[in-house]
Amino acid sequence: MKGRNAIVTGSTSGIGLAIARALAGEGCNVMLNGLGDANEIEAVRADLAAAAGTKITYNGADVSRPAEVRALVAAARADLGPVDILVNNAGIQHVSALADFPDEQWDRLVAVNLSAAFHASKAVIASMTERRFGRIVNIASVLGLVGAPHKAAYVATKHGLVGLTKSIAIEVAETGVTCNAVCPGMVMTPIIEMQVADQAKVTGLSPEDVVKEVFLQNQPIRRPVTAEEIAGAVVFLCSPAGSGVTGTTLAVDGGYVAR
Ligand code: NAD
Repeated sequence: MKGRNAIVTGSTSGIGLAIARALAGEGCNVMLNGLGDANEIEAVRADLAAAAGTKITYNGADVSRPAEVRALVAAARADLGPVDILVNNAGIQHVSALADFPDEQWDRLVAVNLSAAFHASKAVIASMTERRFGRIVNIASVLGLVGAPHKAAYVATKHGLVGLTKSIAIEVAETGVTCNAVCPGMVMTPIIEMQVADQAKVTGLSPEDVVKEVFLQNQPIRRPVTAEEIAGAVVFLCSPAGSGVTGTTLAVDGGYVAR
């Protein structure tokens, strides 16, 4: 994978950052993306570049905006060269009963969790098929495979992402380009830490008990999956060993969907 050029959306924290770190560790040049404090992001970028010795750049596109997604891909091409690997990882959550689910949250989750992957994949696909190499990995969720209450937009967008993955995979299957989805179970990242804090307030449980009794109840390994374990699956799918795998959903979920 040495010298491959990768874009990882939403890689300023959590799972995306672990994926960027793992790809850089395999010798890839990486375009980071995500929201957050500019100084903190620059520290992350510099740290990654120093550790990996590959080219690490950053683009602050808001992936809910199609024009910014296209600009992100163009910037990666300009800074790194042709895009070999695209990891659509940026994602957001909103928890609410359906009757009260805010319309604007529905629209925002569709834009960030689903449409961004469509626009980014569309922007890289012609160059990948022409060069007869490409890896697109969509970070979906176990909630792209099963339902859950109070998460209508998240569950719908992650199921949509799984569908998009299968469609792209079949469309370009003969060109050497693969497209797969990784479906994480519960991983302790900022997106979950916020939900744990909210649930602790509502239930009166300690954050530790919320994790154990609410979040890990459905995860048979009874511990969070780590961001590095998700990154390992992405590296496999992008590596020569993963070249025969396309259109699949790889659950890295501690047994969540096996129950
Ligand atoms: P996180 O909140 O730590 O990271 C999300 C990243 O997306 C951040 O870098 C953030 O800046 C970026 N982002 C959010 N909105 C953006 C936008 N409009 N434009 C550009 N970047 C944006 O969360 P995480 O847990 O690392 O989540 C990463 C992915 O994994 C998401 O798609 C999430 O749905 C999925 N996932 C997470 C879990 C979990 O338990 N943590 C489980 C299943 C799936």
